[in-house]
Amino acid sequence: MAIVHCPACGKQFSSVKGDCPHCGADPADRPRRRKPAGVGPNTHYLLGMIAAIGGAGWYYSAWSTGQPVTYAKWMIGIGLAWYAAARVWSFLRRR
Ligand SMILES: [Zn+2]
Repeated sequence: MAIVHCPACGKQFSSVKGDCPHCGADPADRPRRRKPAGVGPNTHYLLGMIAAIGGAGWYYSAWSTGQPVTYAKWMIGIGLAWYAAARVWSFLRRR
């Protein structure tokens, strides 16, 4: 049993009673029930880490063969920034 707010009139009532006793609205479509987001922060953590690790591998292979490492450094930086942005996004969404 839970106390819910009617989505139509805003009054409180027990959810076991079904429809709102004040106005008759169905609490099943109350705005508290949200659909899960398509892409969550965990996906972005993973993508950011893959980019950073891939950049690190690229950096090593370029460094060991004497090629310029500028773009590999950028890839590491973008991966870490992506990961950090996902952390911030997750933190803001949780509040
Ligand atoms: Zn109501």
